[in-house]
Order: sequence, then structure tokens, then C-alpha cells
Amino acid sequence: MSEIIEVVAALIVREDRIFAAQRGPGRTHAGLWEFPGGKIERGEAPRDALSREIQEELHVRSYSREFISTRETRDADRTIRVHLYRTIVESTAFECTEHARLAWLTLEEARTLEWTQADAAFLEDIADVMASRRHAMLARPEALDDLPARAGGRHIFRALQRPWDAQRPHYSIGHKCRALVETQYDTSCLHIAESLQAPDGTTRIIYELQDGARVETIHMPRDVKTPRVTLCVSSQVGCAMNCAFCATATLGFRRNLTAAEIVQQVTVALDTYGPHETHQVNLVFMGMGEALMNVSHVTEAIEILSHPYGLNIPAVRMTLSTSGVLDGLDALKSLSCRPNLAVSINATTDDMRTRLMPITRKYGLGAIRAALESWPYRPHEKVLLEYVLLSGVNDSDEDARRLAAFALGLPHNINIIPYNATPRDAFCAPPAERVAAFIAILQEAGCFVTQRVARGVQVGGACGQLLAKRAGRI
Ligand code: SAH
Repeated sequence: MSEIIEVVAALIVREDRIFAAQRGPGRTHAGLWEFPGGKIERGEAPRDALSREIQEELHVRSYSREFISTRETRDADRTIRVHLYRTIVESTAFECTEHARLAWLTLEEARTLEWTQADAAFLEDIADVMASRRHAMLARPEALDDLPARAGGRHIFRALQRPWDAQRPHYSIGHKCRALVETQYDTSCLHIAESLQAPDGTTRIIYELQDGARVETIHMPRDVKTPRVTLCVSSQVGCAMNCAFCATATLGFRRNLTAAEIVQQVTVALDTYGPHETHQVNLVFMGMGEALMNVSHVTEAIEILSHPYGLNIPAVRMTLSTSGVLDGLDALKSLSCRPNLAVSINATTDDMRTRLMPITRKYGLGAIRAALESWPYRPHEKVLLEYVLLSGVNDSDEDARRLAAFALGLPHNINIIPYNATPRDAFCAPPAERVAAFIAILQEAGCFVTQRVARGVQVGGACGQLLAKRAGRI
């Protein structure tokens, strides 16, 4: 009869590295997988996922664990049964010991080791654990409450969402608690690859993401009585809408941004450029990409950004701009914290709009108008109708009259956008007199009209222009 040997293994994850400590009789295989403190004398029954030796070496104060799976290896006279637990420890000492330093592996490094059959099967489980880790920026206070930390969930949530507050003694969560968050969550962070400031104070930030992709975020301070900042955030890497006048279109579509990447565009920008008083911040989802083609991540990000224990930017201070993806509007409608809506109209006949914005083939102006008619407007809420004026293309008197007919009857604000020319394109902005005449027709018809002030033109005016320039596309 073969002997059965039970082994308990603790998998500890920290950022993109894993650390595995085993405890069981006579464990000898699997190279670095085996933590020296995990080996105990043959015959002693495993008591827990972390032996006292390991706890002491890592200065572990408290930990919790969660069962992942059991694997077996058999040979003629024995069966080794390994029970793998994901273990969350509160400790800052991982890097401090020689053994610990040796035993921290990336998944790729772990794959190159020599494994026993049973342990090798764990690699896939571990890969699943790594892939299923939520990002720390998306963890709600209630979830953070489950960490074996002294600080409560609200406190940790605030420190993660408001990194500048976490510097202050009263709000800090301490190294140990931070290490705990790192073992349980993905804590990767956007990195500012480049930032350019225009004389008007606008800063164009290019973020590099984990996979090397880049997106733009624009920080626009507004010098009114109270200093306020509008942040223009991206929702996708590139864009698939292929609008004829838009620089982002030249980059093509690469992928949707995750909710954590959307949230971090805001937290990193505010941490770096302020303000830290977030009641002075407005957000516009008007950067790269079509937000309603990434509606689940955008809405999750909105919920986090508006959370009262975090940045607390209410949805009424956010505006989401869409090229008119009507399917996405339904998802937005049902949100408890719904942002204001902006729709890029940009043409007044389906023919012309299809040339400028191919999405019109799917959602025509009539359908967009109908959706805006049935929109659940809050008191005083208006839809922002964006209209980029292109000389000789969409700026005739007839266009103005048709645009007025589209807008009247809706609680609206027409936003006339000066076209930001790019060196290689076929369009140009109309002369100032044409713009004025166009606006006058709208106003005479009873429309509410504003003209957008071009911001940050010196650093690449409209969305995607700086990145497209860097990529040699425009
Ligand atoms: N996909 C969304 C948001 C991105 S574009 C949308 O289509 O609304 C944000 C706004 O910038 C849109 O109204 C778009 O029409 C406008 N825009 C794009 N390129 C521009 C340019 N070169 N000059 C001026 N406005 C531009």
C-alpha cells in the first residue's frame, strides 16, 4: 500500500511575482518553488499554510488564505498530495531575506523551472489566479474590509484613490497594509511617458500602459473665480470609429482601456498636476476612443471616480461624448450616477455625416434624435450637441438651419468646435465671419449656442493629435 503524504503550499502573490512556500514531510523537489522554511521533518502533519519558521522569517503578523486546488503525484510506494492555498500576508519583509529574494518569481520564470508532474499542473492554476486578480483601484471599501489589516476598507480605499492624502499621517495606511494590498490586488500604475504644457496652462499627458500602449489625457486648468480643472480622459487605445477629421482615427483601434486605466488617468493627473481638492474637478470623456464602445469599463470607472470615500467627483460634473452609439446609451441610462451626455453631430444630413462619421450607417441622425428625445434628463440637464465646423463641408446656411431644426425641442446646448487642423488633412476651419454667420442663424432660430475655446493648440489641439504626430501618422 502506498503511503500518502499531505503537503500544504502557500502561494503568495505580490505585484507580478509569485512566491510559494511549502510545508510537508520531506519535500525536496521543484527548485525555487520550495521555500527552505517550508520543509519540515518527515512524518510531521501539516498544520497550516505558513509554517512558524516562514512567518518569523517574513515577519508575518497576520494572514488569511483561500483554497485553490489539490494535485497528486504517485509513484510505486507513495502518493504526494499538495494542497495549494492562496495566502495573503501582512508583512513588509519579503525582500529582506536572502531566501525570499531568491524565491520571488514571475510566472514566466516559474515556467522555466523543472517541475514535478503535480506541481507543474499548479502553474495553470497560478496563471488563473494572476489573471483573475482585480485591480486595487477598482476594489470598493467593502471588499478592502476583508483584508487582514488594521486599517478599515474606507481608509484603504481613500489612500488608494487619493494618493496625495495617503502622504499625510492621518490618512496614511502604512507599509504593511500597502504590502497586503499588493499581495491581493493588481497594483500596476500608469506611467507618464511624456507631458507637454502649453502657454495657456493646458498640459497634454501621454501615459504609457502596462502593455506599452499609449493614451492621451488633457489637463486644462480654468482660471475663473475659483480655480477649476477639466480633465479630458481617453476610453480606448486608438479608435475604431474612423471619423474622417479625427487624428485618433489614424492610429486605428488597438484595445479598450480597463476601468482601472480610466480611473488612473484621473488619479495620476491630479496627483501630479492637482488640484487635490476634487470638488474643483470636472471630467470629460472626450479623449481618445469611443466611450460607448467600452461602456462597461467606462461605467465602472465612473462609479469609482464618483465614490464619496474616494475622489467624490459627482456624475453631474462629468460629460461623456459619443459619436452616437445608441446601444451604449441604454446601458448609460440605467446608471444610478449618470454623466451628462454630449453627442458629436458634425453634419446635418445622413449622407454628409456618413462621409465624416461612418458610424452613421448604423445609427442615422433620425435615430439619434429619437434617442435624445426619450433621454431621461435630470432637472436643468441639457445634451451637448458638438459640431466641428469644416470649411465648405458642413458650414453652409442650410446646415445651420438643419442643425437648428435637429436641436429645437431638445434641452440642448450646441457647442461649436473650432476645427483643429492637422498638417496632412483635407479639411480646414472656416473663416471667422462664416463661423459667426453660422452661429447667428442658430441663435436666431432659438438655439442655445456656445463656441468652444481651443485649448492647448501649441501642444497638439484635439484628441489623439500629439500621439498621432509622434506615430508619424499626421
Ligand atoms: N468618440 C467621442 C469622443 C472623442 S472626440 C466622440 O466622437 O464624441 C471628442 C470631440 O472632438 C468630438 O466632438 C469630435 O467631433 C471632436 N474632434 C475630433 N477631432 C477634432 C479636430 N481635429 N478638431 C476639432 N474637434 C475634433
